Amino acid sequence: MATKLELMAEQERFDRIGEVARVATTRFDFHSAVKLALDSLPHLLGKLQYEKRYCSNSSPPIIALDAIFHFAPPNFLYYALDAIEKHLDEDKRIEKASDHDLRGRVNHAKSLMEVALSLWQRIEQVIPVSSVVDEDQKGILADWQRGGIVTTTIRGNTPHYSFALELNSVWTGKCECCGVMVRGAKVQFLNVKRCPSCRGLGRFVLVSPVSQ
Ligand SMILES: [Zn+2]
Repeated sequence: MATKLELMAEQERFDRIGEVARVATTRFDFHSAVKLALDSLPHLLGKLQYEKRYCSNSSPPIIALDAIFHFAPPNFLYYALDAIEKHLDEDKRIEKASDHDLRGRVNHAKSLMEVALSLWQRIEQVIPVSSVVDEDQKGILADWQRGGIVTTTIRGNTPHYSFALELNSVWTGKCECCGVMVRGAKVQFLNVKRCPSCRGLGRFVLVSPVSQ
């Protein structure tokens, strides 16, 4: 059996990866966030065992997995949900050590992906999404809007959704290094870019689209 210190180290590794993934979601880099979060899986069992044995809080946060359950469905990252499921299948101790309903959450995320797919098809076919009432659908649309994938226009009293993948649309971006805000085509902010202020080569956070 692993020692307390070994399990604690696993918990720290798991939580550190979760934090890195969470930061990636704040810069709308959902694909990287999910990919990074998957690196936490080898440390999941140790983290859960540590918390079950030594912590009084019965279900401490699992930020890395939360990131996957939240961001895999709207981004159609099915492989990530499969990876979690496979991991649960391969080591039955994980579910025994957890008060989180991990299997249930994988299944829920898969059903959200079905919801996302049908929404995507409706937007493609320009069917008004005015009948969107359900919380799952609202959540997915909100993520797409936040990530600049979908924009909303109000016609009459009805919101219409359309894809906003125009990479030339103008956005405000913020230098992660010096914090300066600059305007530019969205495509410029999706990769590493030289900052006009601090001259550093780094990432920009997409802040908001600039209304024309
Ligand atoms: Zn800068």
